[in-house]
Amino acid sequence: MKGDKELVSRISAMSDKYLAILGFEGVRPSIKLSGRVAAKWLGRCKPHSKTFDGETRRRAVVATTIEILRSVCSDERTLERVIAHEVVHHVQFLTQNRGGHGADFLDRAARINAVAGAGFVTVKCFEGDGYVLGPTHREFFVMVRFVAGQYQASWSPTVTDRVAAEIGFHVHKYGARVFTSTESWLTLATKLGASRTSFRASYFPALDRQEYLAKLYNEGRQVIGLDMARGKAA
Ligand SMILES: [Zn+2]
Repeated sequence: MKGDKELVSRISAMSDKYLAILGFEGVRPSIKLSGRVAAKWLGRCKPHSKTFDGETRRRAVVATTIEILRSVCSDERTLERVIAHEVVHHVQFLTQNRGGHGADFLDRAARINAVAGAGFVTVKCFEGDGYVLGPTHREFFVMVRFVAGQYQASWSPTVTDRVAAEIGFHVHKYGARVFTSTESWLTLATKLGASRTSFRASYFPALDRQEYLAKLYNEGRQVIGLDMARGKAA
């Protein structure tokens, strides 16, 4: 995507800053922007192991890739916090061969927080909790229904046969309507087509979220002819 190179080098510079705070001088992580839309995780650190020759056949992590969700990158502080969290994992992997959020994670997080401020690195990075997500980099489908006084939603990046069948159920039973959206928080809703038996939708009780869904449901431009819309939204 346009501007990716510049963004990745900016993220690498951030990563260097936190590696320095942790006093780590080994290999740097590779940085990758995720193609995902779903906001279930904001960043992740994937270890790459190598088996060393010799009697023990010991496997050790020799490198990592830090993957960052694109919607994280539109808020500078959010991006920094997610990078700092993943850099802690990187150092864990390369010095101890493991990740996780145990005592060693907390120790390193505290070293960063002593510089960056209390609560900067948290054990979990998720929407809310001061983490701000921008729009997703591509549109996805969102189904909205009004049940028992609540606007409820579920979503899918694509419309497969299974997703279309489930939408059909919600439409017939609840008068559901289908739209496209780039609101990151909606990807935390139940995923369409995820289960054959329980066709559920998620309720977001916050007033602004109910208002967004109400407006979409009542005034939004519906996706019509789902058969034509198969594949990616937009
Ligand atoms: Zn983590």
